[in-house]
Amino acid sequence: MSKYLHIVIASGLRQIFTYLPPALTGTQATPTPTIGCRVLVPFGRSQRVGLVVGHSDDSDIAQEKLKPVLEVLDSQPLLPKPLWQLGNWASHYYQYPSGDALMHLLPVRLRQGHNNQLISRFWQRSNNAPDLTRAPKQALVWQQLLQLPQLFSEHQLTTIGLASKHIKPLQDKQLVTLTQPQPQPVAPCLQNPPLTLNQEQSKAYNSIGRQFNTFACHLLQGITGSGKTEVYLQLIEQCLANAQRVLILVPEIGLTHQLLERLQNRFSNHLLALHSGLTDQQRLDAWQQSWLGQGDIILGTRSAVFTPIPDLGLIIVDEEHDQAFKQQEGFRYHGRDVAIKRAHDANIPILLGSATPSLESLANAKRGRYQLHTLKQRAGNASTQGYEVIDLRLHPVQAGISERLREIMQRELHTGHQVLLMLNRRGFAPSLQCQNCGQTAACPACDASMTLHKHPPRLHCHHCDNRQTIPLQCPSCQAQQLRPLGSGTERIEEHLKSLFKDFSIHRIDRDTTRKKGSLAAMIEQVHTGQACILLGTQMLAKGHHFPHVTAAVIVDADSSLFCNDFRGPERLAQLIIQTAGRAGRANLPGTAYIQTYQAEHPVITTLTQSGYNAFAEQALQQRQLGLLPPFGHMALFLVQARHEQAAYSLLSWLQHQLNSPDLGAMSQDLLHFGPMPAAMAKRANKFRVQLQLQHPSRAHLQNLCRHLCLLLEQHPDGKKLRWSLDIDPQEMA
Ligand code: ADP
Ligand code: ZN
Repeated sequence: MSKYLHIVIASGLRQIFTYLPPALTGTQATPTPTIGCRVLVPFGRSQRVGLVVGHSDDSDIAQEKLKPVLEVLDSQPLLPKPLWQLGNWASHYYQYPSGDALMHLLPVRLRQGHNNQLISRFWQRSNNAPDLTRAPKQALVWQQLLQLPQLFSEHQLTTIGLASKHIKPLQDKQLVTLTQPQPQPVAPCLQNPPLTLNQEQSKAYNSIGRQFNTFACHLLQGITGSGKTEVYLQLIEQCLANAQRVLILVPEIGLTHQLLERLQNRFSNHLLALHSGLTDQQRLDAWQQSWLGQGDIILGTRSAVFTPIPDLGLIIVDEEHDQAFKQQEGFRYHGRDVAIKRAHDANIPILLGSATPSLESLANAKRGRYQLHTLKQRAGNASTQGYEVIDLRLHPVQAGISERLREIMQRELHTGHQVLLMLNRRGFAPSLQCQNCGQTAACPACDASMTLHKHPPRLHCHHCDNRQTIPLQCPSCQAQQLRPLGSGTERIEEHLKSLFKDFSIHRIDRDTTRKKGSLAAMIEQVHTGQACILLGTQMLAKGHHFPHVTAAVIVDADSSLFCNDFRGPERLAQLIIQTAGRAGRANLPGTAYIQTYQAEHPVITTLTQSGYNAFAEQALQQRQLGLLPPFGHMALFLVQARHEQAAYSLLSWLQHQLNSPDLGAMSQDLLHFGPMPAAMAKRANKFRVQLQLQHPSRAHLQNLCRHLCLLLEQHPDGKKLRWSLDIDPQEMA
């Protein structure tokens, strides 16, 4: 037995803690927990769940200062070895404390110390229909059990209102047996036959399908409706036929439901969905089932990349460009990039799909690191869309709707078609302004204006959730001339109601879809095909199929053109193409309309005249000039503090360290900017200051950041203030 245990704890500290093995109880020696097992340890004045990461026979700390582990929670490691390694890699790469990172890999219940014994609490229902005519109660229980899969967990049992005691009599008759489930052999079970692939689809399918059982990163670029999903489905079938499982990642929960439907329609294999809509218990169940090989296809959002899956044969990342794959708080990992590493380690192919691939992925394809497959035609007989740029300098605008747009909508609606309007701003107006002194209502806690909402009436800060009643007079000059400034979805809806009285308007944003099922209900109505208006935030531009839409409108392209994030143009281009992709999916030709005061802006002209790849080419050239990703690598230190000065002085000190001659090659070719205010300089009463680092070498930047983290941890203010490091940031905070 080793004398000392090395343990990590989710504590925000990079330290590895040393504990003694659990005290002997009675005559029975508790076995030393192996690496990867959870233990309960005393920590300060409380108890915490930790993970064993190592053993040793010596320690620098005097034995009497060490405390024994209180309890060993697992008899075997919780994660299969490759995942344990992936977690350690991610912790190292994203420079996030390993205790916090590794705990993040576990379902919440397990992080809390909940026991994992459920793994053995599975029952198998017998194949034979029993004769229970003389035991009506048991017959009833048996009937209820038929709702569950043949193999079911204790928790699943509770979902139908039963507990283990209810099935005890059936267990005595051997109609159900307690079982340690073994992975079921995998094979495709088709519910519906696959479609005949068109030429482009076959080419992609054959090329990817030839390379199973070896690592390769494939980028499948295909406009919306070009049949990417069909290619996924057939590759999944092939993977299952090789007796291997599939992991599919999507950027958000809304897309899991859609894809789940398509998967269920094709396969009757057991599917497991992992997303934020599950309760902690459901998540634990799905996670355990996947661990045990009870799911053939695992579908989930970002964190599902860490799901244990035996015999994984293929990973698919749909809408790979979506920034939702990057976690923006805490453990700031990129789900797509971790997935690529996972595929690499497992030596299996990974497929990234998108109509608008990220510039990083396109650059990797150009360099030959990824294999590019392109679908240019729409599958089936859908027609492709054209663009029209509506120059707002030439057309009068009222409440966000230009005269030209009004005419187009009039025409489309009266022909019986549907129109979709995308505006990435919910609420009535982005601010309330005094006509007398020009002052706008600002959030007292944030560096942002308060959004005006009418339903229910309030001023609302979307960053800190601060709510206020709408003032009747200007707090600054007391004038009673307050007017909404600009338009949000509520205002456009109100205006459209007055313009198009005969048509229903479906507004889809966070305010209208809060209630469970309300989004699904609206989408169902739209699918009836009746002429109507769909209005919403970017929720609308993602994934949904609206076959009856003939006009897709970007109501305001300008807000993204002038944001100071270097990814602004890329995001706008993706949003335009994705929104345009909603139009004309069935037999109806569609057009995308872009309202802008900047009709000659190169992003807009290139995109509409020459397409996404031409835009990407230009944008990549600009990134190259600025040594921006993917031509240079970026890291962002962010300090959040109550006192602005404290944040500045800590980061100034850090920046000063960059001049140290000890840094050698790490500081050569380094570009650094700041300390400077973050894009949002203050949020929820915390000032946000950042230091941005760019370096042509990833390795040097990584080492430099590691060094700076150590310095920050030793600095007295680094211990007091909240600071974070974002490797490969996707948003400039
Ligand atoms: P994407 O994922 O690229 O948006 P989908 O796979 O959803 O495209 O395909 C769009 C539509 O075209 C779907 O209704 C799909 O059933 C249909 N489709 C895809 N491939 C084919 C094909 N080879 N033949 C006929 N219809 C197809
Ligand atoms: Zn606020």
